[in-house]
Amino acid sequence: MPFALSPDRIAAARAFASAFVPGRRVCLTTHVNPDGDGLGSEAGLAHLLQSHGVDVVITNPTPTPPRFAFLFDDMPGVDRSAEAIKELRRADLITVLDISDIGRLGMLGETVRARGVPAACIDHHVSTGVLPDGPRYIDAGAAATAELVFEIAQANGWHISEAAARGLYVGIVTDTGGFRFSNTRPRTLRIAAELLEAGVDPEEIYLEVYARAPEGRPRLLAEALQTLVVEPEWGLAWVTVPPGAIERYGVSTDDLDGVVEYPRSIEGIRMALLFREMSQGRVKVSLRSVGNVDVAAFANQFGGGGHTKAAGIALPGSLAEVQATVLDAARAYLGSGGNGR
Ligand code: 5GP
Ligand code: MN
Repeated sequence: MPFALSPDRIAAARAFASAFVPGRRVCLTTHVNPDGDGLGSEAGLAHLLQSHGVDVVITNPTPTPPRFAFLFDDMPGVDRSAEAIKELRRADLITVLDISDIGRLGMLGETVRARGVPAACIDHHVSTGVLPDGPRYIDAGAAATAELVFEIAQANGWHISEAAARGLYVGIVTDTGGFRFSNTRPRTLRIAAELLEAGVDPEEIYLEVYARAPEGRPRLLAEALQTLVVEPEWGLAWVTVPPGAIERYGVSTDDLDGVVEYPRSIEGIRMALLFREMSQGRVKVSLRSVGNVDVAAFANQFGGGGHTKAAGIALPGSLAEVQATVLDAARAYLGSGGNGR
């Protein structure tokens, strides 16, 4: 069976796309510390919109990690994140990808709120939030925001070029952990197949995203894994990034992507965590679950969010304070079933 959309979805995707009028100036943006899905969806959508005469730029709150820069190589000048506020002030339409919450736009949140133009949104998170009004294309059942961009293109009969397909494929590969996670559904693989048919070379994408790392990446991983703590009685395991280690290895927080999969990979673990210090006295906690544990509901207690099996929190306090608070809550949560019910 080829990939096919229901009549309802086609109507929704067409209504959504009517906001993208040729000649309009559109800013695409995504969450702080953008990942492969945020950036790949932006690159894919930027190519699609450019070929329909829409004036599109990318305005993210934090820079593109080096391993994703190749996504914008064939669109010189489109990534205007360094001038994001200036660009947002000129936009006719803002399009927010891979989040539904202004709070995740970092220092751009206030400009987006105050700008007074519509904010379109394409997202697949279960936890919602607040955004200015605008068209929505949201489906928490999608493995990646990039799947939803594909749907919009298909429903509108937009040709998906090889360059656009590459961005969308990066979004799907990264958010499904290379088609390993439970969000990988038949629909995900059908879309991926169509992207390969559009010319994507999966090995080339693999090399760009996962196999051109700085030496500091595996060295940082080695140091972080030394901190592993396991509590088999709760099904809990966590690692902590030693303060200053990211700077010492000359890498970025993007180089921590995947580290939390190691505590998660241990037999009997139901919730895995990664703690790291952020700037301004805050601590970031990455959460992953196994089985029926819902980490999005857990993260919600602390103002965080995400997906059932992958979520995140940012909390004020020292590393030791945040660890004590979150781990105590995690033991209680797992002790009472681990699904917020
Ligand atoms: P990661 O742990 O890889 O940074 O994020 C995993 C998932 O949790 C992603 O879907 C991401 O959007 C979400 N997430 C991570 N950090 C936060 C946060 O501080 N707040 C909210 N609401 N979601 C987060
Ligand atoms: Mn995503």
